[in-house]
Amino acid sequence: MALTLSQRSAQYTTSPIRDLLKLIEQPGIISLAGGLPAAGSFPVDALRAACAEVFDTQAQGALQYGPSEGIAPLREWVAAQLREQGIAAQADEVLITSGSQQGLDLVGRVLIDPGSTVLVERPTYLGALQAFAPYGPCFADLDDDAQGALPTLNAPAHRDARMVYLQPNFRNPTGQTLTAARRAQWARALQDRPIALVEDNPYGELWFDGPPPAPLAAQLPGQSILLGTFSKVLSPGLRLGYVHGPQEVIAKMAQARQAADLQTSSLTQRLVLKVLEGRLLDAQLPRIRALYRSQRDAMLAALERHMPETVRWEAPQGGMFIWLSLPEGADATALLPLALARKVAYVPGTAFYAAGTAPRNTLRLSYATATPEQIDTAIAHLGDVFSQTQVRPLTEGVLNL
Ligand code: PMP
Repeated sequence: MALTLSQRSAQYTTSPIRDLLKLIEQPGIISLAGGLPAAGSFPVDALRAACAEVFDTQAQGALQYGPSEGIAPLREWVAAQLREQGIAAQADEVLITSGSQQGLDLVGRVLIDPGSTVLVERPTYLGALQAFAPYGPCFADLDDDAQGALPTLNAPAHRDARMVYLQPNFRNPTGQTLTAARRAQWARALQDRPIALVEDNPYGELWFDGPPPAPLAAQLPGQSILLGTFSKVLSPGLRLGYVHGPQEVIAKMAQARQAADLQTSSLTQRLVLKVLEGRLLDAQLPRIRALYRSQRDAMLAALERHMPETVRWEAPQGGMFIWLSLPEGADATALLPLALARKVAYVPGTAFYAAGTAPRNTLRLSYATATPEQIDTAIAHLGDVFSQTQVRPLTEGVLNL
């Protein structure tokens, strides 16, 4: 018997990236496709020790229900960390979430009505588009220049915006960072307008030469919603993130999340608080910055060595991704099967566009999980594929991305 699903359920679609990841889980494939952190960076020993300590000293609290907003000392830890970045944050303006992905869903629940205009970078994080889409927004793309997304709030398609979603630091998928000057322009443009700024910052701590400019939230108190996560600095399997925002918005999000999952795991919150209080990040952050930096360097060197001159990219200053542009007319989706035949995977760029037509000639590479040797091998194969095939007419790919 066919059951009737809600109209909204049609808006929940599976991520082409997750589909692709399933396809490439074959031995021998070097994947530059996933957005996963390096498994070797997980602080296994510290988490094991903290787990034992939590069970020894606070087992009942860790195994009991807790507040929907999160446990008080973790909210305070997050607020203190945001104050160090210039945001006048208080603990009651912080909601602990099950990863920042839940934060994105909560943003959709409390800020988007059917037809609300939501401005997004072009390209942007696919998971944010997936989170917002079921609430019926009209996505409008922002154009970019070398400094990042342009605050074109007077453009006809942007004038009624309810919300802007930005990743100012090492954006997924392009690796680009909004300059300090462009942040100031955004702050001036948004000031005194009833537009929420949703600032998603999973990669800000993964900088290579120096920290990125201060969060926009520092300049826009009262209208910023900032999302953070422990996924990239500790482990994504913990599913621990947070949202900071105006107290009344956070309170509404806490009510919305009660409907979904009541709260984030009490055990995970206490475990993470324990390692944070033990100052694990003081050692962990320099370690992962050095790791990703050396892998970024390996990928940039390999690209210089192996790519035809017609392929373009920018060096990211942090994060996990490099964005490649093939010449006009090339189709990164159609070329993917050829790359897979050479045992290399990437994500075609079309997955990351909200509105308008997506260019077919872009792709995302991650340097987070492959070794420098694997990166060199993989980029050499991709260089071959892109040199031999870029002038061919477009062909239908075997993958429907
Ligand atoms: N935002 C961005 C830009 C991301 O890249 C990711 C993870 N890939 C997330 C949010 C969600 O991360 P998590 O739920 O693990 O915190």
